[in-house]
Amino acid sequence: MLTDYEKIIGSQSPKTWLVTGAAGFIGSHLVHNLLLSGQKVVGLDNLSTGSKLNIDLALNTLSEEQIANFAFIEGDITDKNICNKSVEGVNVVLHQAALGSVPRSIKDPRSTHNNNVNGFFNILEASRQASVQNVVYASSSSVYGDSPKLPKREGEFGKLLSSYAGSKYINEVYSSIYTTNYSMNLIGLRYFNVFGPRQNPEGEYAAVIPKWINLMLENKEVEIYGDGQNSRDFCFIDNVVEANILSGISKNTSDVLNIACHDRITLIELFDLIKNILNEDYNFKYSKEPSFMPPRSGDIKHSFASIDRANKVIGYEVRVKFKEGLKKTVHYFVNKHKAKHS
Ligand code: NAD
Repeated sequence: MLTDYEKIIGSQSPKTWLVTGAAGFIGSHLVHNLLLSGQKVVGLDNLSTGSKLNIDLALNTLSEEQIANFAFIEGDITDKNICNKSVEGVNVVLHQAALGSVPRSIKDPRSTHNNNVNGFFNILEASRQASVQNVVYASSSSVYGDSPKLPKREGEFGKLLSSYAGSKYINEVYSSIYTTNYSMNLIGLRYFNVFGPRQNPEGEYAAVIPKWINLMLENKEVEIYGDGQNSRDFCFIDNVVEANILSGISKNTSDVLNIACHDRITLIELFDLIKNILNEDYNFKYSKEPSFMPPRSGDIKHSFASIDRANKVIGYEVRVKFKEGLKKTVHYFVNKHKAKHS
C-alpha cells in the first residue's frame, strides 16, 4: 500500500532530497517520512544541536531497502565545499539547518548570523550552481516582529525583535532575489512553534512543550515568562512534514507561507492541558503551580497564523490538530521517561 506521501510525490519516479539539519527535530522527521515513501535522501548536519540518536530513531522502523536510500554527511553549512558536495545529484533541498531560539540569538548574534545567514547563502548558491529544481527552507513566525495584527498574514510586518528573526528575514530576501534573477523555485515556510516527538526538552533554549512535559514528569516547577496570557499557534510536526513535501514537489512556485494550525493557545491553557493529559491518560498527578517570571526580550505577545496562503499555493491543510498532536507528544515523552527510569 502506498503511504500518503507516496501518493503526493508519485511512486513512479523517486527523487533525491537533501535534508539539511537532518539530525535535528524537524529534519529527522523529514528523513523518516521521505525514506518511508521510497525517496532517496542525503542528510547533512554538523551535530551541533542535533544528534545521531535522532537519525537512528528516524531509521528505526524502516526496511533495509529504505535505509539503503539514505546517506549521511557530517558537515557544516558554513563550509561552501561541503554544501557543493551535498547538493550533487539532488532534485529537492529541504533546508532546516540553523541555530534556533530567539534568546540564544540575543545572547550570541554572531553565531546566529554565521549559521543562519552565511550557511543559508552557501546552500542557496550551491543549489543554484547544481540547478536544483526546488529549494524549500525553514523561515519562522518571528519575522512578523512586534506587529500586533492577528491573524498574521504573509506580507504584513512589524519591527524585527532579534537576530534570529533578522536571519530568517534575510533568508527570505535572498530567496526573492534568487527567484528574480535565476528563476529558481524557492519556498520559505514560516513555522509557528513546531512541536512533537524527538524535540529536545533539555537546556537553556529548549522549546516550551517538551520542556514542560519533562519538568512535570520529574515533578519540578514550571516557569512561565510573562503573565501566562501570551498565546501561540502551536503546530504539530506532521503538518510541517506535509508542508515541506508539498512545497518540494510544487511546480514553478516561489513564495513565503505560514505553516501553523490556525489555533490559539495561551501558555496557561497549555500548562493545564499537559497537566490534564498526564492525569487522565497516565494517572500521573502533577500538583505544583507555575511560577511567573518577567517577560523575555524578543518574545512576542501573541502569535496566530492565517494559513490561507499555504492552502492556496501548495494545498496545505492541517493534518493533525493541536490537541491530538499534544497527546501524541505527551505519549512519546512519557514512554521516554519510563524507559529512562526502568
Ligand atoms: P534543531 O536544533 O532540532 O535542528 C537543527 C539542526 O541543524 C540540528 O540538527 C543542528 O545540529 C543542525 N545545524 C545547526 N547549524 C548547522 C550548521 N552550521 N551546519 C550543519 N548543521 C547545522 O531545530 P528544529 O526545531 O528542528 O528546527 C529546524 C529549522 O526550523 C531551523 O531552521 C529553525 O530555525 C526552524 N524553525 C523551527 C521552529 C520550531 O518551533 N522548532 C520554529 C520556526 C522555525
